[in-house]
Amino acid sequence: MKERILKLTKMLNEANYQYYVLDDPKMPDFEYDRLLRELENLEGEYPQYVQPDTPTQRVGGQALSKFEKVTHTVPLMSLQDVFSLEELDDFLSKILESYPEAEFTVEPKIDGLSVALEYENGLFVRGATRGDGVVGEDVTENLKTIPSIPMVIENAPARLIVRGEVYMPKKSFEKLNERQEREGKALFANPRNAAAGSLRQLDPKIAAQRGLDILIFNVQYAEGVSFDSHSESLQYLKNLKFKVIDWALLHQIDKINDEVLRINENREKLTCDIDGAVIKVNRLSLRERLGNTAKFPRWAAAYKYPPEIKPTVVEDIVVQVGRTGVLTPKAVVKPVRLAGTTVTNATLHNQDFISERDIRIGDTVLIRKAGEIIPEILEVDISKRPTDAVPYKLPSACPVCGAPTQKDEDGAFLRCTGAACPAQISRIIEHFVSRDAMDVEGLGGAIVDSLIEKGLLKTPADIYELTLDDVKSLWQSGETAAKKLLDAIEKSKQQDLSKLIFALGIRQVGAKTGKVLAKHFGNLDNLMAATEEDLTQIPDVGGITASFIYDWFRQEQSQAIIEKLRKNGVNFESKVAVTDTRFAGMTFVLTGALTKFTREEATEKIELFGGKASGSVSKKTTYVVVGENAGSKERKARELNIPILSEDEFLNMLA
Ligand code: AMP
Repeated sequence: MKERILKLTKMLNEANYQYYVLDDPKMPDFEYDRLLRELENLEGEYPQYVQPDTPTQRVGGQALSKFEKVTHTVPLMSLQDVFSLEELDDFLSKILESYPEAEFTVEPKIDGLSVALEYENGLFVRGATRGDGVVGEDVTENLKTIPSIPMVIENAPARLIVRGEVYMPKKSFEKLNERQEREGKALFANPRNAAAGSLRQLDPKIAAQRGLDILIFNVQYAEGVSFDSHSESLQYLKNLKFKVIDWALLHQIDKINDEVLRINENREKLTCDIDGAVIKVNRLSLRERLGNTAKFPRWAAAYKYPPEIKPTVVEDIVVQVGRTGVLTPKAVVKPVRLAGTTVTNATLHNQDFISERDIRIGDTVLIRKAGEIIPEILEVDISKRPTDAVPYKLPSACPVCGAPTQKDEDGAFLRCTGAACPAQISRIIEHFVSRDAMDVEGLGGAIVDSLIEKGLLKTPADIYELTLDDVKSLWQSGETAAKKLLDAIEKSKQQDLSKLIFALGIRQVGAKTGKVLAKHFGNLDNLMAATEEDLTQIPDVGGITASFIYDWFRQEQSQAIIEKLRKNGVNFESKVAVTDTRFAGMTFVLTGALTKFTREEATEKIELFGGKASGSVSKKTTYVVVGENAGSKERKARELNIPILSEDEFLNMLA
């Protein structure tokens, strides 16, 4: 039986090698499956004969809780970048000047992540990520799931370390993202991120499903084996049945340039993403003479290809409304492959971006994708413009709620002004109930979201119509918490007008403007009736803010909210007589431990009566209010002869 197990292991591994490394399958699938099943059965019966490189156990046992750190025997260095053929020529000429006979290998630069694989007496014992080049993470179990990594190599040195690039083939990447989309999970930005995420899965079963692959590009260490050149060592790895990167061996600069460009032109046809070409001195003795800097070898350079640019057609322009109401236009383009992914849309940022490039529906455009950046339209090919194409303008009504859209303060973005726009509603309500606004304790973001989901909250005013039944279901513990919340909502009806104005979430109307407006108008109806001119005349209210306020109250959605608030008895009055400006022109400083009121309450009162509260004592200070254990501020007040008030004296002034 042992012989049969040995034979099957060998046959199946050979078939794997032909399939995954040589990309030249010889064994039909059904034959492979049949033999694999036979091997599995035999291994079940005779576990003592299971071979270390059995193809049945690539997906190892348990998920890990974390990855162990591994210190690399030979550091995994980085590469110096060159960004143009001129820079590349400089790099080559410098070496050729001193060493005219130098030869170079040119290899594609795989866009994945670097790993080191370690073999002891031909057995794969450990694989680690690059990490910082010196210390990486042990991802052996995940690497074992990559079928092109041999588990056992014949005629291997006692110790062998090779370096390669793990990547996600374009096909696997597309499949993975399709699945992510189906399952409603976040998509991976590019194959590189997907490969990194997969290799760092703690559960090798997940890594196994991701279809990762590897290309080996270096011998890090081979005990007792010496090479003259890099190309010789790559050939050696090939003979050991590794999946080795393609390389060209060249001498002349122009041939090297050609090869670099050729690799780029063939990029589309490769199964993996590449982001450049790596040019390396071939002779190892010359490498030694050239040496390394702290970070990279002086004998190699990575030529980074410029980002891919392709033409496509803008089939539509759609507008999304974000949580803060900003309208973001997006071009839907005819699908095009770019930098390893299929691109179907591109960001258009805002109206200025569209207008500057005059991008129209139907236009043929040049589109670019660099790294993770969302694809962007560079320019329009006017010669291909359909005759009926018209300039694009962002909508004047919100595509979600229909409210008018309005330019931002700085004019860059268009915003929806809907006071209850569904795209913004969770943020609007969270703001409405927040501490400095209506201050409803216990109505946090998660609760707001679930009430919105249940259809119970469509506008901020709806909180005042929630019933015990509505909220009870939100907590496991039920009624007590629900009652507490309803009490808090009830209490918030008595908030001062200034807080209510702030809570409405009108653009540019912060807590301070809320106070100014409440004091000026005394009640909400007066504010609603104010003209833009009335508003502009108030100090602290600028022209743009005035128009935001005026427009807000003119909208249907806003008016519905106000009426619902009124119906439910929410306070619309400012609590302090507007005309009382007894503290006008005065500056107060509060110091020491106050026991009869909080600093915020005192500040609020001072401001309501037209005074100012300041943090430091100066000649301009009118009064210093001292609590217990007041320190340097009280001393300074005495030095400057500034009247000092006790808490009670201050309260008397408010009476
Ligand atoms: P960089 O990360 O830009 O410094 O580029 C260096 C990285 O390129 C290395 O860490 C390798 O992971 C990767 N790489 C991909 N293909 C090759 C290759 N053929 N030769 C050397 N490095 C490569």
